[in-house]
Amino acid sequence: MKFCSHCATEVEFRIPAGDNRQRYVCPSCDTIFYQNPRIVAGTLPFYYHDGEPQILLCKRAIEPRKGFWTLPAGFMENGETTEQAAERETREEALADVTVQSLFTMVSVPHIDQVHMFFLARMEKHQFGAGEETAEAKLFREQDIPWKEIAFPTVARTLKRFFEYKNDSAALARCHSSAILPSEALRKLEAEERERQKREAQKSTNGQTS
Ligand SMILES: [Zn+2]
Repeated sequence: MKFCSHCATEVEFRIPAGDNRQRYVCPSCDTIFYQNPRIVAGTLPFYYHDGEPQILLCKRAIEPRKGFWTLPAGFMENGETTEQAAERETREEALADVTVQSLFTMVSVPHIDQVHMFFLARMEKHQFGAGEETAEAKLFREQDIPWKEIAFPTVARTLKRFFEYKNDSAALARCHSSAILPSEALRKLEAEERERQKREAQKSTNGQTS
C-alpha cells in the first residue's frame, strides 16, 4: 500500500513501537495497517457411481492458471464461516449445491500469505455445471484425474490424500494439516517448465518430419 486509507498521507514501512515486524504506518494519523494471511476455502465434491467416488473438478476460465483443473475454492468473504465460503464457492464455480462435511486438508502457503482449507462434500445429486469463472466442470474417476493439469499444489495434495484414504473412513474424517514451502513450489514450476520445453521440442520435431 502507498497511502493511508484514513487521511491519504503517504505511509511509511517501519517497525512500530512495541512491535517486532515492519508494518505500514501512517506518520500523520498514526494508524498501523496490519496485513495477515488470507483464507482460501473450498470443497472436494465427490459423487459415488458404481461404488466408486468421482471428484468434481473445474477447468479455470480465468487467470491465474487458466485452462488448468481445480477444486472449487476461493477467498473467504467477511461475515462468512469457512464452511459457508466453501459451499458458496462450490455453488458459484461448479453450480453444485453441497453441504460440507468435515475439514479434510488445511495447507499453509506462507510464501503467498495464504491458508487453503478444503472440506469433503458428498454430492447427493448428479447436478453441476460451469460457473462464471469455470470453462468446464466434470466428474473424474481416480484413474482419469489430469494430474499434469492441476492448477495449484494445494489442490493436487488434497486429491492425493483423498485417494490415499478413500477406503479408510477414519482417515477421511480427520483434518490433514501441512504446508507448501517456496522450494517445493519452485521445484514444481521448474518441472512444469521442463515438461513444456520437452513438448515444444517434440512439436517442432514432428513439424519437421511431416
Ligand atoms: Zn493517516
